[in-house]
Amino acid sequence: MEAPSDCGHVGRTPPDVVAIDGLSGAGKSSVARAIAGRLGWSYLDTGACYRALTVAALEAGLLEPGDEQPPTGGLEALAVATLPTLQMSLDPCAASVRLAAVDVTGRIRDDATTRTVSAVSADAGLRRQAVAWQRAMVQRTEGCVVEGRDIGTVVLPRAPLKVWLVADADARAGRRAAQDRVSDRRAVRAGLDRRDLIDGARAVAPAVPATDAVVIDTTTLGIEQVVDRVVELAAQRGLVRASA
Ligand code: C5P
Repeated sequence: MEAPSDCGHVGRTPPDVVAIDGLSGAGKSSVARAIAGRLGWSYLDTGACYRALTVAALEAGLLEPGDEQPPTGGLEALAVATLPTLQMSLDPCAASVRLAAVDVTGRIRDDATTRTVSAVSADAGLRRQAVAWQRAMVQRTEGCVVEGRDIGTVVLPRAPLKVWLVADADARAGRRAAQDRVSDRRAVRAGLDRRDLIDGARAVAPAVPATDAVVIDTTTLGIEQVVDRVVELAAQRGLVRASA
């Protein structure tokens, strides 16, 4: 008998999954990409999915840059219309995001999108659609490292390995500033604090660790050290194939 997938369908054997969750700047992206590279797996950045939906919501005028609350309606319908046009590379070495064939890889990281994404992602209806899309993307793979805030709690609660990355807030701000080539570290820290507050306190799928997640503090660790630790955990759980 074939095993039921995380989506509740009966189909082929579900793909192997490593869930990497945590707050902004905890090192999720670098670590998750490197683990996927090491294991020869796909990589899904669910933050990029919410960012792409934010670009669409701003374009549709559903909210203004910097808004802290989602609009009272319209975001789920926007997600239903937008997600079928969203193309995201699952190659850990090649980030690329397209909306209706338009390349938005850079735009999803711009200031207006970053300041608005937490309001958009707080919308329950939009999240329902986004989670279904994310699960479908994972199902297309043989093995996937999935990065986000609610992968272990909501998107793939049966993931065999869940990791929650934490780091000191100043360290996180420093990393984000370097990554985005921004010199005003205090402004970056303020932006992160604001997003952490909204993401952690929202009613739907708040950014909190799953009870069975392994918590790793990355403040003083290099990427390779964190990757080694997660790959070791994956091996202990029988997730590493002989070829990896
Ligand atoms: O990871 P990244 O900083 O790109 O995520 C952008 C935003 O998307 C987060 O601040 C959060 O509001 C939202 N997000 C989420 N759930 C996820 C991934 C990201 O709500 N699984």
